[in-house]
Amino acid sequence: GSKSIEEAFNEALAKHNLTKEVKLVRTGCFGLCEAGPIVIVYPEGAFYSRITVEDVARITEEHLLKGRIVTDLLFKEAVAEDQIRSINEVDFYKKQQRVALRNCGVIDPEDITEYIAFDGYKALAKALTEMTREEVIETIKKSGLRGRGGGGFPTGLKWEFTYKAQGDQKYVACNADEGDPGAFMDRSVLEGDPHAVIEAMAIAGYAVGANQGYVYVRAEYPIAVHRLQIAIDQAREYGLLGKNIFGTGFDFDLEIRLGAGAFVCGEETALLNSIEGKRGMPRPRPPFPAVKGLWEKPTLLNNVETYANVPQIILNGAEWFASIGTEKSKGTKVFALGGKINNTGLLEIPMGTTLREVIFEIGGGIPNGKQFKAVQTGGPSGGCIPAEYLDTPIDYDNLIALGSMMGSGGMIVMDEDNCMVDIARFFLDFTVDESCGKCPPCRIGTKRMLELLDKITEGKGEAGDIEKLERLAENIKSSSLCGLGQTAPNPVLSTLRYFRHEYEAHVNEKR
Ligand code: SF4
Repeated sequence: GSKSIEEAFNEALAKHNLTKEVKLVRTGCFGLCEAGPIVIVYPEGAFYSRITVEDVARITEEHLLKGRIVTDLLFKEAVAEDQIRSINEVDFYKKQQRVALRNCGVIDPEDITEYIAFDGYKALAKALTEMTREEVIETIKKSGLRGRGGGGFPTGLKWEFTYKAQGDQKYVACNADEGDPGAFMDRSVLEGDPHAVIEAMAIAGYAVGANQGYVYVRAEYPIAVHRLQIAIDQAREYGLLGKNIFGTGFDFDLEIRLGAGAFVCGEETALLNSIEGKRGMPRPRPPFPAVKGLWEKPTLLNNVETYANVPQIILNGAEWFASIGTEKSKGTKVFALGGKINNTGLLEIPMGTTLREVIFEIGGGIPNGKQFKAVQTGGPSGGCIPAEYLDTPIDYDNLIALGSMMGSGGMIVMDEDNCMVDIARFFLDFTVDESCGKCPPCRIGTKRMLELLDKITEGKGEAGDIEKLERLAENIKSSSLCGLGQTAPNPVLSTLRYFRHEYEAHVNEKR
C-alpha cells in the first residue's frame, strides 16, 4: 500500500504548500513488515505504523503543520508511559545491529547522493588510493567474514584464491538469486541499498584483478532489478564505475543478468552457466569458480549480504568486524522471520544471539497464545529445530550441529498446530520440483522420498517406511552432485531426529 500513501502525501503536501519544507523520501524496507506500511517523520523520529491513505491527512495537518505527534497512529511500542520512543528502543530493533542493512529504510535508494552522504564509496576510495590489493584481501580475511549465502566459506580465502589464480581476464559475480521459500534478505538489500553491493563488487574487482562484474538477480524481483539498474547508471555518471575510477587507472563495470526463477541457479556453478547463457545446471567441482568460472576464467562469486558487509569492513577495519559475533562466526546475520510469529520481518543480529531472543524478544513470540514447536532455518536445505534448543546461540557451526544450517537466512516458526511431517513434505516437494535432473540420486531419489512421505501423510504408511525414508535420505545426501541434492533430505532428517513420534503416529494411526 505504500505507493498510494506516497501519492496521498504528495497531494497533501501540495495542498498545504509544504513541498519546499517537507521532503518525502521513499526508502527501502525498514524490516518490521508486520507494522507496514510505515511512515517516519523526522526530526522527531515519530514511527507511524499500519498507515492507510485515510491517515495521511491527519499526519499532515497535525504533525507536519502543527507539530503535534498523532500518538494513536504510532507503532504500539513506540509510546511508553506517554513518552515517544525512538525506533531503536522498540523491542523489534533494540537487540539488532545493522551492518548489512545499515541504510535500508534510511536512505532513498534511487539517489546516489544520499548513499554518498552516508559515507558511500568512501571504502572504495580508501581501497583504491590507500591500500594494496593484498591489504584489501588481508583485511577481509582478518575480519572473519564468511559467506552469507549458505555455505559459510571464509570470504577472504575465496578472494585470495581468485587473486592468485592465473588468467588474462577475471570476473566478479554476485548471487542475488535468493530462491528459498520465506527468504527476502537479498531482495531488501538490493531494494533498499543497491550501492552497497556495487561499491563492494568494485572493491572485490580491485582486490582480485577483475574489471567486469555481473549481478545475477531473479527476474521475480522487479523493484530490486529496477533500483539496481538506476544505481549502476548513477555510479557510472559519477565516475564510480567505468574507466579510471578516482583517477587511479582502475577500470570496473557491472551488468545485471536476470535469472528465470530456477532454484538450482542459486548453486554457484549453475549460476555461472546461466550467466553464460547456458542451461542452469551445476558443473562438477573442482575446478572451483575461483580457478575456472565464467567463460573458464577465474571468477569470484559472493552473495548480496556478504558484499553488503564489505564497505563497512574496509572503512572500520577488520578488528571492528571481528569484535562482533562468536569465535568462529563473526559479524551479524540478516534473517527473514516468518510463519507463526507476531513480528514478521527482516532483522539483523550479531552472531551468537540465541534463537529464543530472536523468536520471543525480537519476534514478539507466537500469536494467539499458542506454544512454540519448532523453527525451520536454512530453507529447503535446512532443518527444524525444536524448543529444547531455543537457547542455542546462532552461528554457522551450532546450527549444523543441530541438523540444520544458516542457509541464506530464512527462519520459519511453527506452533503446536503444525504437523512436522507435513512441513518436511512441503520442503521436499519444493526440492523435487526444483531438481535440475542432472544426477540420479537427486532426480530419482527425492521423488521416491516424496512418494513415501505422501504415503505416510495420507495414512497409508507401512512398517519399514520410515527406515526406508531414512536410508534414502542418507544416500541422496552423500551421492548427489550439488548442494541442492546434498541438502534436500535435511528437513526430513531433522524432523525424523526431533519429531520421529509424529511420523510413527501417522503410520500407526493407519493400522
Ligand atoms: Fe541437479 Fe539435483 Fe544433481 Fe544438483 S543434485 S545436479 S540439482 S539433479
